[in-house]
Amino acid sequence: MTVDNNGYEQAREIWNKAVPAKPGLIVECRTEEDVLRSIEFADRHDLAFSLRSGGHNIAGRGLLHNGMTLNLRHLNKMEVDHNFCRLHVGPGAILGDIDRLTSAHDLAVPLGVEPTTGAVGLTLGGGMGRLSCQYGLSCDSLVSARMVLANGQVIDVSENHYPEIFWAIRGGGGNFGVVTEMTFTLHPIPRTFIHGGIVYGKEKVIPALQIYREILKQGDRKLGLDAALIVDHQGQKSILFNVCFNGTRAEAEDSLRVLDSLGKPLSRRLIDKTYPEVQSSEHMPFGFYNYYQSSMTNALQDELIEILAEALNVVPVPDSEKSEFFIAFQQMGTAISDQLPEATAFAHRDALCNIIPISHTRSMTWHQKTKQCIDLIQEQIAPYCSGFYTNDCNDTNCQNGEAFFHTNLPRLKLIKQQYDPDNLFNRSVDISGCHQGLAAGR
Ligand SMILES: Cc1cc2nc3c(=O)[nH]c(=O)nc-3n(C[C@H](O)[C@H](O)[C@H](O)COP(=O)(O)OP(=O)(O)OC[C@H]3O[C@@H](n4cnc5c(N)ncnc54)[C@H](O)[C@@H]3O)c2cc1C
Repeated sequence: MTVDNNGYEQAREIWNKAVPAKPGLIVECRTEEDVLRSIEFADRHDLAFSLRSGGHNIAGRGLLHNGMTLNLRHLNKMEVDHNFCRLHVGPGAILGDIDRLTSAHDLAVPLGVEPTTGAVGLTLGGGMGRLSCQYGLSCDSLVSARMVLANGQVIDVSENHYPEIFWAIRGGGGNFGVVTEMTFTLHPIPRTFIHGGIVYGKEKVIPALQIYREILKQGDRKLGLDAALIVDHQGQKSILFNVCFNGTRAEAEDSLRVLDSLGKPLSRRLIDKTYPEVQSSEHMPFGFYNYYQSSMTNALQDELIEILAEALNVVPVPDSEKSEFFIAFQQMGTAISDQLPEATAFAHRDALCNIIPISHTRSMTWHQKTKQCIDLIQEQIAPYCSGFYTNDCNDTNCQNGEAFFHTNLPRLKLIKQQYDPDNLFNRSVDISGCHQGLAAGR
């Protein structure tokens, strides 16, 4: 469809409203054959294209302004093979639907925390979430994938077939072809998790982050623990620990006892929840202006903690209850670090956490104000961090392949040269050295 067609606006919708990109042509692919024909069409007419699965990329790289976008949202197959403990999904399948389906069998794949994210897009970059402490990255549970390559070939990749591409798509992003299906191994999950939040006031931010660092280093595999520094619309600052514990309440209390030295929290609410209940809270829905950056840290050292605590003082206070500013800390280590950095394309196996300053708002004015602040925080913490996460690539950092892939970059480049020498798949982190600049209007 083109801009004049009914349904165009719906087809171009992505998570971040701040991205105005308008593709000249959107192809709503409903079958793998549609994908194949679209790639051939693009080749014949020398058209640049992008791939939109769940539409969650922060910079909206799933859309290509004035170019062609393959919208894969209707390829949303989800199938559990209970006998073999396998899950088959298409690129349009989103996390919330998958978690509901698999947990009905008391099984799950470790996926991300926001239910509307696309599982295939997430896994291509690595994929981390509440079960990663126990089962590693989403891509660590990937068994095989089906792909349409730049030359029109359709292949199935796994450890035994095309092992080089299989290595590359576990963290290397959407650089190698269109993934039309992924197969995962499923893991057992309990009936309920202990889930909830513990909040401390601003004066506790520094010691709380120091304790968080020690918890991350200890790497309790039952304890999923993300954190966030928050500024609310009344200017109140706080630190939130987001807990998802797989075990008994007594074990959870034991594991969290180290927080007691911080004194009484402002609030503490830990309740028993099923996995879909834990995973279904849509914290950041579509329809908002968003901006974020991300940086991996292997140490979360005191100097870094001080910079982050200080950053809370300079953030513009959210203009309404609907606007949010926070610096999120995504837990890593634990089972994620069981694999060596060179085992898959995902290079950050040694990281303790991913630090993500985020603004989320309905107000364009406040959105603009916070962008500058987030970039400044990113600049200040850069000397203490060790690169970026593929899934958080944006228009400013996507050309810096080395920061995403470290020593895995040369191997990725070789695979890219072999399977996509003309860099047709160029909307992910650039590993070819011939990055396509920002499309006009972006
Ligand atoms: C609110 C929010 C929460 C998030 N939470 C998490 C989290 O908990 N854990 C985590 O690890 N990440 C998280 N992310 C990051 C998310 O994993 C990435 O943005 C991921 O790329 C989203 O995939 P998608 O299919 O939704 O995105 P899209 O925007 O549709 O695609 C992004 C890019 O992925 C590639 N791609 C997509 N589909 C295909 C395909 N079928 N074949 C080949 N390449 C493809 C393309 O390069 C495309 O430009 C979050 C993002 C947001 C906005």
